[in-house]
Amino acid sequence: MKMHFLDGGRLRMKRRIFVPDAERDETVELPVISTLFRHAKGNVLFDTGCHPSVATDAHARWGGMEKFMTPIAPPRQDVINALAQVGLKPEDIDIVVNSHLHPDHCGCNAFFTRAQFHCHEAELAAAQAEGADRMGYLRVEWDHPMRLDTFSGQFDVFGDSRLVTMHLPGHTPGMTGLRADLTRSGEYFIVSDAVAIERNLANDEAPMNAWNADLLLASYETIRARQNAGATIICGHDDGQWQRLNTGAYAHD
Ligand SMILES: [Zn+2]
Repeated sequence: MKMHFLDGGRLRMKRRIFVPDAERDETVELPVISTLFRHAKGNVLFDTGCHPSVATDAHARWGGMEKFMTPIAPPRQDVINALAQVGLKPEDIDIVVNSHLHPDHCGCNAFFTRAQFHCHEAELAAAQAEGADRMGYLRVEWDHPMRLDTFSGQFDVFGDSRLVTMHLPGHTPGMTGLRADLTRSGEYFIVSDAVAIERNLANDEAPMNAWNADLLLASYETIRARQNAGATIICGHDDGQWQRLNTGAYAHD
């Protein structure tokens, strides 16, 4: 199995959302990450980044959300183009697993018309709930005609323990991480927004935009246990970590 980290866009947000002692007007730039797995039984995408149109007209797609989560990637810096660099078209994706259903994590879902989709049952319920738009869910991004299955506990994507989800609630109710067991590189635990930036886990800080800070801190314990067992933790939006990662066509195996 090979793993590729794909560039799914870039955002600017207030730094204070993530770092409690930051100044009011300080901002931070955040990478948006999608992970591709090329498994003998199929191609899997974990998260799909931002929709390509937000590079030119974020308001049309995201409405008021673009004010506090502002897309800053130039046109074509999206998962569809990142896949092309690996030699894949959207039709080549067999399975999409969404860590959660915020628009910077499922923005390209609409393109994967051949894929089987999966997310946690608590996440779908949160996205379908009344007032979900105030919780950062946009129906245009996640509600598509493709097959969507939900899971509750763990979901072993191919039944061989190589790709297994883990429920990490806190950022959202159904927030899910993915453990990848690689032959040479060992375990990678892609935790998405369960850990937005590295220092949050190191300092035991919950970002201000957490749905439930107590559950988030409990999820940090789950993540630390994997880290102590030797797993490499990949955060949702840490630019320092992103700059150090081998991304795009580079195949981790
Ligand atoms: Zn999110």
